[in-house]
Amino acid sequence: MPRFGLRGSRVEQFASIPCLVSVLRSIVKSFACGDVVPGCEARWVCSTDDEILVNVAAHAADTHGLVELPADVVQAVHKAIVPVS
Ligand SMILES: [Zn+2]
Repeated sequence: MPRFGLRGSRVEQFASIPCLVSVLRSIVKSFACGDVVPGCEARWVCSTDDEILVNVAAHAADTHGLVELPADVVQAVHKAIVPVS
């Protein structure tokens, strides 16, 4: 008789990608961190600028040591966000 064990909670990994849900809706926007921070290869695809900014803020704190995004960086991020068709 085979034994079936619980495989752990893999669902949590998918639940931590909120942007993916937005991509399934209509308008999609993309931002590459490298457009603001040369050499960084992080990029996001979300449905709104705000959503991207939330992710960029977390990334900037983790990866670039920017605890708070200065206004000019936020402006630069907005300018670098491009719509994806
Ligand atoms: Zn970056």
